[in-house]
Amino acid sequence: MIPAQFDYVAPESVEDALAALAAAGDEAKVLAGGQSLLPVLRMRLNAPEVVVDLGRIPELREISDDGEAIVIGSMATHSAVVASDLVREHAALLARTVAEVADPQVRHRGTVGGALVHADPAGDVGAAALALDAEFTIVGPGGSTRTVAGADFFVDLFETAVGEGELLTRIRIPKHTGWGAHYEKFVRVAHQWSIVAVAATVRVEGGTIAEARVGLTNMGSTPLRARSVEEALVGRPATEDAVRAAAASAADGTNPPSDLNGDSDYRKHLATVLTRRAVLAAAQG
Ligand SMILES: Cc1cc2nc3c(=O)[nH]c(=O)nc-3n(C[C@H](O)[C@H](O)[C@H](O)COP(=O)(O)OP(=O)(O)OC[C@H]3O[C@@H](n4cnc5c(N)ncnc54)[C@H](O)[C@@H]3O)c2cc1C
Repeated sequence: MIPAQFDYVAPESVEDALAALAAAGDEAKVLAGGQSLLPVLRMRLNAPEVVVDLGRIPELREISDDGEAIVIGSMATHSAVVASDLVREHAALLARTVAEVADPQVRHRGTVGGALVHADPAGDVGAAALALDAEFTIVGPGGSTRTVAGADFFVDLFETAVGEGELLTRIRIPKHTGWGAHYEKFVRVAHQWSIVAVAATVRVEGGTIAEARVGLTNMGSTPLRARSVEEALVGRPATEDAVRAAAASAADGTNPPSDLNGDSDYRKHLATVLTRRAVLAAAQG
């Protein structure tokens, strides 16, 4: 289907983008890579009067090092994140997770910020961002800026802390240098959205897990942290038996959907299996 008619603006600064959003009010829609928005417009599930394209704001594409953390502009594409030496060295979990998003074409156009704001519960990026304690910079009318932690960023199905008239500009990720990382994604066919997936990153000292972070994809309406698994892993050897025991609680407190890909109980079982695999692989580097 052809989208309904809309005006198109492509500002060259964040200030101008905010002004364009303010002028259009709730009739505006932000365009990043368009990989999720354009299908929505083509199906006429949304018909904004104005589309504000962020593609001509170079600062939003930057990936930089602020000392304690790496800072990723919301318009950095999935491909740029996967290829970034900074991300690979200091946030390996994010690089490995984003490498599993869709296919090369989608990764070439789609942005990390767009995926996070879109907040599809089966989307891959959120679990890694949550596990890595990412902070999200949101700017609003007049340039007001606030920083939101992952626990407050993901609100519900397709809903985040980014409100109307606001932009996600940066994702700040504390460095996890030297941590092993793995994203275990369960799909029926290649390039599919996750049925369930687990993002794990661990710091191993002398064969013992010293710190662990585990994020779950598609185990509820938002990405989730498997905190009981993280706590159970600390101080345990990075062995199959120890990790299996810790992973047994991966589905505690989750509320996964039931659909044609599997029912809720099946997803809960999958979460324990995928958590074991992800943590063991992460512990091996
Ligand atoms: C065939 C296909 C397969 C896919 N498979 C997967 C997959 O396996 N895993 C996965 O995780 N994703 C998958 N995706 C989605 C992909 O990751 C998209 O890139 C992502 O969902 C949206 O990013 P985008 O940059 O294209 O955003 P857009 O589509 O441009 O925008 C998405 C939404 O976010 C809003 N938005 C975007 N950026 C900002 C911002 N900076 N501030 C405020 N609002 C903003 C837009 O207004 C819109 O509502 C797939 C997409 C396609 C087309």
